[in-house]
Amino acid sequence: MDTEPGTIAARVRTVLDEIHRAAIRAGRAPDAIQLVAVSKTVCVERLREAVDAGIRHVGENRLQEALLKIESLGRDGVVWHFIGALQRRKVKSVVGRFETIHSVDSLALAEEIDRRAQDAGLRQRVLLEVNLGGEIRKNGFEPAALLAALPALNGLESLDVHGLMAIPPPSSTAEEARPYFRRLRELGQTLTAHGCGNINMQELSMGMSHDYQVAVEEGATYVRVGTAIFGARND
Ligand SMILES: *Cc1c(COP(=O)(O)O)cnc(C)c1O
Repeated sequence: MDTEPGTIAARVRTVLDEIHRAAIRAGRAPDAIQLVAVSKTVCVERLREAVDAGIRHVGENRLQEALLKIESLGRDGVVWHFIGALQRRKVKSVVGRFETIHSVDSLALAEEIDRRAQDAGLRQRVLLEVNLGGEIRKNGFEPAALLAALPALNGLESLDVHGLMAIPPPSSTAEEARPYFRRLRELGQTLTAHGCGNINMQELSMGMSHDYQVAVEEGATYVRVGTAIFGARND
């Protein structure tokens, strides 16, 4: 199903334009924000259209589907992101195949990624997923737990922690997500102020199709956009 008007190329241009405008509104450099096109359920041909239209960062949250797409599109000019819930037994297949894992939601998962990265002789770039929704969402570190986990995370030498990711609770308007985006940014600043050692909190992965402009205004460095580029999914 594809209800949005325009071609994929036109929608990519629209989203890039909106990101640019939101950055300018917030006094930010537009090139500080990377658009990650989220292509779950989207076939390779349509994803290729997006890449031809200038998409460089692609996000997938289903491992098998992602691996098939990586095989057909390759890595030349495409940077792959893993953004979905990750089971520990699947870590081995993810490490080294994605530039960044956005969804590290527990210390145990971080440790497993570190172990597998070390086995493979590489370093894995990750973001830490934070649960800002309390009871509403279950995935992610609680902010206080994250602070407590910092020393342990710091000891993981094959893990490059570059920032935070969050998915706010579902809301009907983009403005309702703003306080969550703001809290994620402030959490990054708090963690930095506590001294994170090797951990860096430079990246904020936040904002999806319905609220990415607000996320950019609040400091997002990655926005993860699916529907606004590829049309509605059936999931
Ligand atoms: C599906 C998904 C997105 C994109 O959602 P849209 O509303 O289609 O833009 C972003 N982030 C994650 C983690 C997702 O699973």
